[in-house]
Amino acid sequence: MQVFYNIHELKLKLAEFAFLDKTIGFVPTMGALHDGHVSLINFSKKQCDITVCSIFVNPTQFNNSEDLAHYPKTPENDILLLTNAGCDFLYMPSVDDIYPTDFHRTFHFGYLETILEGSSRAGHFNGVGQVVSILFDGVKPHKAFFGSKDYQQVMVVKALVKQLNLPIEIVSCPILRESDGLAMSSRNMRLNVQERKVAALIPKLMNEVIGMIELLDIEEAKKWMKHQIENEPLMTLDYFEICDAESLHELKEYDSTVSTVLLIAVFVGKIRLIDNLLIS
Ligand code: AMP
Repeated sequence: MQVFYNIHELKLKLAEFAFLDKTIGFVPTMGALHDGHVSLINFSKKQCDITVCSIFVNPTQFNNSEDLAHYPKTPENDILLLTNAGCDFLYMPSVDDIYPTDFHRTFHFGYLETILEGSSRAGHFNGVGQVVSILFDGVKPHKAFFGSKDYQQVMVVKALVKQLNLPIEIVSCPILRESDGLAMSSRNMRLNVQERKVAALIPKLMNEVIGMIELLDIEEAKKWMKHQIENEPLMTLDYFEICDAESLHELKEYDSTVSTVLLIAVFVGKIRLIDNLLIS
C-alpha cells in the first residue's frame, strides 16, 4: 500500500488508473481503525479495481474541542490493518493539505441537519460536507463506501452528491458489532473497563424495544428507553428516536409496513456513542 500525504501527488497517481478505465472505490475515515472500517475496505475491493482509504480527523465537523483533542490516533496500527486488508492507497493529509486557506464552503442539508446528530452537534454536517466534498474532488471515486452506523451521515452524503451533481455512487454498508453487540467504534477505545461493560446495554435495550414495539406505542417505548438509561449511573441519554427509515421523520405510531429505524446517542461516562437498528 502506498501512503500519500499530499493531494496533488495522490491525484497524479489516481489519474493513471482513471486513464486505464479502472474503477476507484473510496473509504473515508478518521483513523483508529477497527474491523468495521476494514469491512468497508472489503466491500470496496469486491466492487472496484482500486481502493483508496483516507484518514483525517476533520476539525470542522467537531463541535466539542475536548472530543477533537482526545480523538484516538493509532497510525501505525491503521497502516498495518489497511495493508493486510489489501487497500491500495492511503491518503493521510494534514489540516493544511485539506484546508489550504481559512475559506470554507457552507453546506445546507435542510431538515436533515435539524434533527438527531444535526441538532445535537451544531455545524457537524456542514463540516462533513466540507471534508467529504474536498476528498471526493481529490479522489474522484466511482463509488464511496460508508457505514450505516452513521445512518444520518449516509443520508447527508447522498444529499451532498446530489447537490454537487457528482457521478459517485454512495454505498451504505452494514454495522459491524463486537461479540456483546456493541457497535464497533474508534471511540470505544476511550471507554474504561466499567464503561465498556455498560456500553453493551445500548444494542441490548434497542433490541428489547424492537421486541415490544408492536405492543407499546412509540411514546411509551421512548419513555421506557429513557428510564432504562437513567437507571444506569454511567449513562446519559442524548436522544432516542424512532423514525421513518427513508425520511428520518419521527413516527408517531409504529406501522409494520413502514421501514423504521431506531436511533440512539448515549454518553457513557464522557464518551458519546451512537447506534441504530433498522426494522425493515
Ligand atoms: P469514522 O472513522 O468513525 O469516521 O468512520 C469511517 C467510516 O467507517 C464511516 O463511514 C463509518 O460509518 C464507518 N464505520 C464506523 N464504525 C463502523 C462499524 N461498526 N461498522 C461499519 N462501518 C463503520
